[in-house]
Amino acid sequence: MTLTAEDGRPDRRSARGSRPSPTDTVCVSDAISDLVPNSGSDSVPQPAGKQPPMAQRIDVSNLNVYYGSFKAVEDVGMHIEPKSVTAFIGPSGCGKSTFLRTLNRMHEVIPGGRVEGKVELGGRDLYGKDVDPVAVRRYVGMVFQRPNPFPTMSIFDNVAAGLRLGGMKNKKQLEEAAERSLKGANLWEEVKDRLSKPGAGLSGGQQQRLCIARAIAVQPQVLLMDEPCSALDPISTLAIEDLIEELKASYTIVIVTHNMQQAARVSDRTAFFNLAAVGKPGRLIEMDTTEKIFSNPTEKATEDYISGRFG
Ligand code: ADP
Repeated sequence: MTLTAEDGRPDRRSARGSRPSPTDTVCVSDAISDLVPNSGSDSVPQPAGKQPPMAQRIDVSNLNVYYGSFKAVEDVGMHIEPKSVTAFIGPSGCGKSTFLRTLNRMHEVIPGGRVEGKVELGGRDLYGKDVDPVAVRRYVGMVFQRPNPFPTMSIFDNVAAGLRLGGMKNKKQLEEAAERSLKGANLWEEVKDRLSKPGAGLSGGQQQRLCIARAIAVQPQVLLMDEPCSALDPISTLAIEDLIEELKASYTIVIVTHNMQQAARVSDRTAFFNLAAVGKPGRLIEMDTTEKIFSNPTEKATEDYISGRFG
């Protein structure tokens, strides 16, 4: 495969054809052992064509999350299924984003940020003392609220950045991986003729898909999305929602959203977080299938929230 146009026509089906397939996934234990430095596995991201790692389940137990002495999230336990979309909803300040960032150890880069409890990815303790947080972030990718392509880099270099950081130098491998990732993010047809142009020159929706391409280039097992559509117009939002639906065939996806219609549209399971009062920690109130949460939640607080009585 090359970086040149195949036939010049937009074709989402052919674009999807080269997305990493869930059935291609065979090297889970290798991937997980990469979390430990010097474990003997190759820590360089896998070249295009090699089997991607498998979407993994996430198991969280007794998780408390702090900013210094402030406990922002209290006693969360949940199971997140692979190859599914899980939405986190709840009023502002209840800890959704904070909790999300504990799933790839990004919380601890904030001064004073620390966690207690356990987060397991495919049965492996992400906070184990021998686990390398940088490797965790490779396997658990993240997409942020505002599209944040590297402003001085071209479209191609944006997608290749993570692979280069991981040590991939071979031009052909980088080109193949970039093409595969851009196709995976449904952006290839729109950018294949201007890969050397700045990523910052794309529209907001395209930039967000570029960020998704950048995240999937290193073939993560989980994709975390923190309000990925909140800065986008309705058409771009629908494009990202379509993409999320497609990506779940290969990835475990967790999305924070303030938009309840979006949670209802894109997710298989929904977790409702709430806080008793300002200054108190956020807690997981209820987690169930999205259908149940939006039609017949068990907890009154969930019902009050989804029916717009607060938040
Ligand atoms: P949500 O995503 O549900 O809106 P957040 O996770 O952003 O909630 O915030 C949860 C709590 O943590 C809030 O009280 C917020 O003020 C606090 N918080 C968030 N980020 C920081 C930070 N960097 N330092 C200190 N407190 C923070």
